[in-house]
Amino acid sequence: VMASMAHLQEEKLRLQEELLGLQEKLTAQENNELSRSLQLQGQVETLKAKLLEQAQEISQLRSELGDMDVEKDLLATENERLRQEVKACKGELRELRRQQQVPCQECAHLQENTELQEQLSQLQQEAEETRAKLAELDLEVQQKTNRLAEVELRLKDSLAERAEEEERLSRRLRDSQETIANLKAQPQQIKYIIKTVEVESAKAKQALCESQSRNQYLQEQVGMQRQVLKEMEQQLQNSKKTAAQLRAQIVMYEAELERAHGQMLEEMQAMEEEKNRAIEEAFSRAQVEMKAVHENLAGVRTNLLTLQPALRTLTHDYNSLKCQVRDFPLLLQETLQSARAEISQAIEEVNSTNRELLRKYRRELQLRKKCHNELVRLKGNIRVFGRVRPITKEDGEGPEAANAVTFDSDNDAVLYLLHKGKQVSFELDKVFPPKASQEEVFQEVQALVTSCIDGYNVCIFAYGQTGAGKTYTMEGTAANPGINQRALQLLFSEVRGKAADWDYAISVSAAEIYNEALRDLLGKEPQEKLEIKLCPDGSGQLYVPGLTEFRVQSVEDINKVFEFGHVNRATECTNLNEHSSRSHALLIVTVRGLDRSTGLRTTGKLNLVDLAGSERVGRSGAEGSRLREAQHINKSLSALGDVIYALRSRQGHVPFRNSKLTYLLQDSLSGDSKTLMMVQVSPAEKNTSETLCSLKFAERVRSVELGPVSRKAELTSWPSQEQLEVPKGAVPISPQGDSPGTAAPPGRGHVSPGPGPLSSRVASIRRKLQASG
Ligand code: ADP
Ligand code: MG
Repeated sequence: VMASMAHLQEEKLRLQEELLGLQEKLTAQENNELSRSLQLQGQVETLKAKLLEQAQEISQLRSELGDMDVEKDLLATENERLRQEVKACKGELRELRRQQQVPCQECAHLQENTELQEQLSQLQQEAEETRAKLAELDLEVQQKTNRLAEVELRLKDSLAERAEEEERLSRRLRDSQETIANLKAQPQQIKYIIKTVEVESAKAKQALCESQSRNQYLQEQVGMQRQVLKEMEQQLQNSKKTAAQLRAQIVMYEAELERAHGQMLEEMQAMEEEKNRAIEEAFSRAQVEMKAVHENLAGVRTNLLTLQPALRTLTHDYNSLKCQVRDFPLLLQETLQSARAEISQAIEEVNSTNRELLRKYRRELQLRKKCHNELVRLKGNIRVFGRVRPITKEDGEGPEAANAVTFDSDNDAVLYLLHKGKQVSFELDKVFPPKASQEEVFQEVQALVTSCIDGYNVCIFAYGQTGAGKTYTMEGTAANPGINQRALQLLFSEVRGKAADWDYAISVSAAEIYNEALRDLLGKEPQEKLEIKLCPDGSGQLYVPGLTEFRVQSVEDINKVFEFGHVNRATECTNLNEHSSRSHALLIVTVRGLDRSTGLRTTGKLNLVDLAGSERVGRSGAEGSRLREAQHINKSLSALGDVIYALRSRQGHVPFRNSKLTYLLQDSLSGDSKTLMMVQVSPAEKNTSETLCSLKFAERVRSVELGPVSRKAELTSWPSQEQLEVPKGAVPISPQGDSPGTAAPPGRGHVSPGPGPLSSRVASIRRKLQASG
């Protein structure tokens, strides 16, 4: 027993040890279990928190969904409202179209309307699309909520499961704790309990494993759920965005619709106004027209009223006119007869007045001629004009070209020459300053020219130093012709004016005197020297045998003659300018007239002479031919001076024959002629001594008194001006001088009263006139 006791004791000790070990293990296991359960509790706790979060999120999502639902409802109501508005607009549009279709077919509003309609339909289409999208979104949201509900359900299930598991675990824990306590209390049973515990702990382990795996699965599911939730959140976000976009679009469409509506309203307003205005205008126009029509009607009515008496008088008049027309031919005949008689009487009267007038006109004409001749006689037979040419480029520059000639502003017959510091004054019949035109000069000369038509001999000659303007005054330039051409033109026009009663023939000759030789410038042989001879008919007239005479009838003829003369003159010399300054050029115009009614014949001669230069060349030591030329010029010019002197001093002998020039000009210088000396001078300082000589010569010539002019008329029956002029008791005597031309041929009615009591009387009148200014 002892041994068994000891053995048992040993056994007991071993068991106690084992128990201790087991207890230790158990506590360790307990601890382990506790920590695990704590862990699990913590996990459950976190899961619960997560669940709570998810539930919150879900509720949030639900509330958002609810918001979206509200928004959706709002949008749907707005959509509905817009649809209604569109419908109303459509109705309005239809109405408008109906209203405007007829009057406004070509109106611009129609087009706008159609555009607006198009826009509207577009908008409607877009609204439709949006609506479809909204429906889709609705569907999606529905699906998502369904899925959410499912997930919630599943979550609930898993939570319940988990709760159960927990419950079970905690129960088992309590059980195992109880078992441990029991074991502690009953060491005998410990082994068994330990075994149970061991078995149960294996079971517990397995359960733990299961719960762990379950936990894993649940976690996975939670993860999945979270993923789904995230996706859903994403989708929700997207749908929110789309909803916002749609809202913005809807706002835009609304604005557009508003605008379109506003436009439409405006247009409708404008149309309405236009329509009203048109109606008003038409109305007012119609009123005005109505008024006018009324007025017209009233006027027509009054007219009708006034016309009735007029009609009555008209019918009356018509009847009386009918009667008159019946009597008209008779009346006409009578009136015609009396008119004829009156007309013939009037014609008779006019004729007699005409005759009387013609008679008076002729008398006046004679009187005018008489007056003219008186005037010429009073002015003197030799008239002297001075012409001062302008300073030209040829005068050069500096003091030599300075102007030395001045004029008297009050007296156009006086000029002053500043010579060697002294002012010398000269009085001529007229002085032409440099600015005087060819036309002005000719106006002073034309009376002389026309007098040659009446049968007077006229001589115009230009005197002066070379370059003083002689040729310019006589010939002039093509653009501005001188006395020659103007004189012939005047003769032509005068002759034309007298063509009714007179037949005139005008002929010209051109000659040149060079070195005392006379040459025919129009002849076939211009170098041939011509002689001056007495007319063989015993008339005492001088003539030049062989001198060519051209009959001229127009300006063209004269120009041809001048040209011919120039050509002839130019072929005869090497330097025409020099030659022409050293020769005298003569243009002799003869005017022969016949008065058809009286048979009176007249012959007048117009001598136009461009003299050679008067400068004193001989003194400057010229030699040879130049000296000869100068001597000839001097001789002829001094012969001219002598002749004039003899005439002036009324000497018995006038030396006409001393030079060819004076001999040829005898007719023009003797008592029955009119003479004009145009003294040309240069105003330049360097020419003053020559200017002085020329002006002195001019004054000398001017004081010469010729006898009264006479006309060469071949019929005694014609009472000449001169006979009319001769005062009672004055007996015409034969002219002085040695010229044969001055002797009146026997049996001829050549009236040429010479210087005698008459001329002395004229001279005394002239002196008186000069004295009285
Ligand atoms: P002359 O014949 O006396 O030698 P000209 O008639 O040849 O002189 O004149 C000399 C120059 O002076 C010419 O060039 C001419 O054109 C010019 N002349 C002369 N008189 C006038 C005038 N009154 N007006 C303009 N130029 C003139
Ligand atoms: Mg000349």
